[in-house]
Amino acid sequence: MTSVQAQRDSTVVTGAEVGLAWLAEAAQKRADAGLHRRPHVRRAGAGEINLGSNDYLGLSTHPAVVAGARAAAGRWGGGSTASRLVVGTTQAHIDLEDDLADFLGFPAALTFSSGYLANVGAVTALATRGDLIVSDTGTHASLIDGCRLSRARVVVVDRGDHEAVRRVLAERAESRALVVTDSVYSIDGEPAPVADLYAAARAHGAALLVDEAHALGVRGPGGRGLVAEQGLSGAPDLVVTTVLSKSLGAQGGVVLGSAMLRSHLIDCARTFIFDTGLNPAAVGAAHAALTILRAEPGLPDRLRANARRLASACGVGEPAAAVISIVVGDPQRAVAAAAACRDRGVLVGCFRPPSVPVGTSRLRITVRADLDADALDHVAGVVDAALREVGAR
Ligand code: PMP
Repeated sequence: MTSVQAQRDSTVVTGAEVGLAWLAEAAQKRADAGLHRRPHVRRAGAGEINLGSNDYLGLSTHPAVVAGARAAAGRWGGGSTASRLVVGTTQAHIDLEDDLADFLGFPAALTFSSGYLANVGAVTALATRGDLIVSDTGTHASLIDGCRLSRARVVVVDRGDHEAVRRVLAERAESRALVVTDSVYSIDGEPAPVADLYAAARAHGAALLVDEAHALGVRGPGGRGLVAEQGLSGAPDLVVTTVLSKSLGAQGGVVLGSAMLRSHLIDCARTFIFDTGLNPAAVGAAHAALTILRAEPGLPDRLRANARRLASACGVGEPAAAVISIVVGDPQRAVAAAAACRDRGVLVGCFRPPSVPVGTSRLRITVRADLDADALDHVAGVVDAALREVGAR
């Protein structure tokens, strides 16, 4: 009997966790495959350099952003107290939505309590049984889950293959179709061919939903994203989702599009209707961060310059956004490399299956605008030493 089985049997004997006895075996299997996960606990004053976060512009700790959170909590309380449709909508929610819509060039915006829920809500409200969704191999889990929950027929094409999207749309039997994509893929920061996807969708009477989570504050004029960079802000049949939890240093998600789209989501998006409204503190923080981004349009340029410098110092190609992905291959080795960085005071992300395909486990470094050249060179030295220590270099 293995120790895993012994553990399971002892659970049976004590009468506890009978129905969940299989968890231990599953955990052992994940541990054997190097896929066991445990969150790193950040401790105040630890002095770590954090390149594992999505705080691209370093705004989560900006005094004005913290003050925005505090002021909103003081005015509206520690929670929004109800779903948006009951009494969970405050004037602060509406002001933020109007300002986001104005900044990003769309008629209307609707916030959700996370980016994950914004994507699930938007996709499931825009496609259902009898419809077609064309997705790709690089989309974020929240879009994948939205596709699954929608009950639409889902066709997944290779990431970036807009000709395949065109073919699938042309050959469909369904009258309604939705194409979904990330604009900057979260795994490696590479851009999707957004303009080509939009042209494909328009040519075949479909709508395009673009997730700008890793492009807001990173790409486009003043950080307005890849959609703005391609001249598509406010275009018909285009839906943009993005997050308040990355460049804006707060928390929450947002869907942008026409006034009719906003109204449809209010009536039909289950993750809007049945979820407590976005926390007022997050609303206040995000609005303060948006105000900073408007006032300092050079911040995204600084971020991308930092990304170029760090990528070059790490010996990898020029990044299209602010994600630097260093493929290690084996998951155990990737975990060991991330731990070796952490031991040297540098936090980096470590992506393993199922977040990435088998054999492509990697370090994922998210660059920040608020690091100087010395810090970036130090990080590059630490990453190099860590990779050598685990035999990945
Ligand atoms: N979309 C993408 C591309 C993301 O990377 C993430 C966050 N990892 C989300 C959506 C979900 O956003 P949130 O964390 O705000 O739920």
